Formats: sequence, C-alpha cells, structure tokens
Amino acid sequence: MIFTDFVQDVPDFPKPGILFRDITPLLSDPHAFHQAIEAMTRPVSPLHATHVMGIESRGFIFGAALAQRLELGFVPARKPRKLPRPTYLEAYGLEYGDDSLEIHKDAFKPGDRVLIVDDVLATGGTAAAARKLVERSGASAVGLTLFIELADLTGREKLAGLPVFSVLRY
Ligand code: AMP
Repeated sequence: MIFTDFVQDVPDFPKPGILFRDITPLLSDPHAFHQAIEAMTRPVSPLHATHVMGIESRGFIFGAALAQRLELGFVPARKPRKLPRPTYLEAYGLEYGDDSLEIHKDAFKPGDRVLIVDDVLATGGTAAAARKLVERSGASAVGLTLFIELADLTGREKLAGLPVFSVLRY
C-alpha cells in the first residue's frame, strides 16, 4: 500500500505558507482506509489501553475506527463549548492559529490508560494539550498514534516520555 498516493498536498491552505495534507482521498478508499487503521493499530495494541481518545475533528474518524478495532471505548476531545456537561479545558497554539480542547470531567477515572489519536502531528501543541487533559482527569496517556507526522516541525519534542507512532512521515 503506497499511502502517500492517498494524501493530497494542498499549498497555502488554510493560510499562506501552510502545506495542508488532505486525507479525504484515503478515507474514501475502503482498502486504503482499512490498511491505514491496521497500520495505526499494530504498534499500539501492546499498550493495553482502556480507552481511545480522538481529537476533533479528523481524530474522531481515525479514533473511532481504532476503538472498534481494539474493542475499546471512545472519548471525544472536543473544540470549546461543544460538550454539554462540566469539562476540563486546555488551550494550545496550532501550526495555523490558537484553539482549545475540552473533555468531560468524568470521561476518565484514575487508572484508565488512554491512547490518543489524531490524523496529523504538526507542532505537537494539539497532542500536548490532549495529553494534559487526560492527566488532569487522573488517567494516564499511554501513547499517541497518528496517520501523518510532519517530522520537520518536531512535534515529538513537546511529548517527552509519551510513545508516539505514525504511519507516514514527511
Ligand atoms: P499541531 O498542534 O501543530 O501538531 O497541529 C495538529 C493539528 O492540526 C491536527 O489536528 C491536524 O489535523 C491539524 N494540522 C496541522 N497542520 C496540518 C497540515 N499541514 N495538514 C493537515 N492538518 C494539519
């Protein structure tokens, strides 16, 4: 499977200077999407996670598929003001802007082992905020799995001590 054939590079989106990696061609191909989920699952199955947490929005797509594959529950880390009950909130800087993520305060309990899932690791700010949310709830973040890692942006450096797995590295 040549995964790069299913990623479309879009220059200057959503801002000048950003090379956007569009994964919608991957999602619309049943074989490629299935193989991508298999490749993201393989290195993380030994982590004995109890939950998968997907990051809004594209992390929901990969995360829900991984949760089904691993037979684990799924928790959404959402953009602000979407969740209806009390939340923890973490703000972070993006490759192209600022944002925050929230989880319900009762999403996890101490002792839970959480696998974090997103589509792309860029500067690592999003994933670091997601990890903090897990830790604030008393649970442990046991790994991060991504489809794409933009290695030049050194996102891993913001995630010291957290096992990080990616299928495609640019
Ligand atoms: P960062 O916090 O910088 O690691 O950014 C990661 C988040 O932004 C992920 O949720 C990605 O979906 C999105 N993202 C950042 N840069 C890109 C890019 N070049 N192409 C596609 N998505 C991106």
